[in-house]
Amino acid sequence: MVIAAAEKAGATVLRGARVVGLLAETPPGVWVRLDANGEHAYRARLVVGADGRSSMARQWGGFRVEHDPAGMTIAGLRIDGLAAPEDTMSGFVHPGYGMVSLTVPLGNGRFRAYVGRHKRDGAPERPWRGKTAIADFVSANIAAGAPPTWYASDLQVAGPLASFDAADRWVPHPQRAALVLVGDAAASNDPCFGCGLSLSRDR
Ligand SMILES: Cc1cc2nc3c(=O)[nH]c(=O)nc-3n(C[C@H](O)[C@H](O)[C@H](O)COP(=O)(O)OP(=O)(O)OC[C@H]3O[C@@H](n4cnc5c(N)ncnc54)[C@H](O)[C@@H]3O)c2cc1C
Repeated sequence: MVIAAAEKAGATVLRGARVVGLLAETPPGVWVRLDANGEHAYRARLVVGADGRSSMARQWGGFRVEHDPAGMTIAGLRIDGLAAPEDTMSGFVHPGYGMVSLTVPLGNGRFRAYVGRHKRDGAPERPWRGKTAIADFVSANIAAGAPPTWYASDLQVAGPLASFDAADRWVPHPQRAALVLVGDAAASNDPCFGCGLSLSRDR
């Protein structure tokens, strides 16, 4: 919907394209890799880096990034067929283990599940990623307090399992010459508490 609105307003939208570098000269621009069509340079008066919490634009632009000490990590997965309430968001906190479990119903038996864990003694645990970590992810939800019966039915994993370092991260001055960072590229906060998107426009 937003992409359609951007096109309607006159933007050229390139799907499947990846920015692979910045052009620092005047006018500035970006190198874009287009599938099977090689790389192209695009120039503009202003380059906006809106490439999220792992922003490469931030790195290419040489921005100074500050961050809180490592604390929580959060892992998320879409699971269908959970026996959890469909009309309620369910949260469990296990202070002793430093764990949070959150289950968000999406309708029609579809759910997003999250587990937040504290990194103990500064030693980061291996992040949960991919199919091999799904059993650990489910066990952690139960250890944090989610009822085991929710996971006893025929579950379908409907998306990739991914983990994120939850520490707040920010660029003190997210503008340099004709490059500006917006959204999570400029600052991302701890997603364990379900905020972030609402802050994007203010950063
Ligand atoms: C686990 C988790 C749970 C969260 N839960 C919530 C929540 O409940 N409520 C809430 O408000 N917020 C939540 N957030 C935060 C929210 O997702 C972010 O604040 C928001 O998505 C930031 O928007 P953005 O457009 O800046 O970045 P993103 O949504 O990350 O978008 C960046 C885009 O840039 C693209 N991109 C990156 N590099 C390149 C490149 N080189 N070339 C081309 N494209 C590129 C990416 O593919 C992506 O589409 C959560 C975050 C996480 C990690």
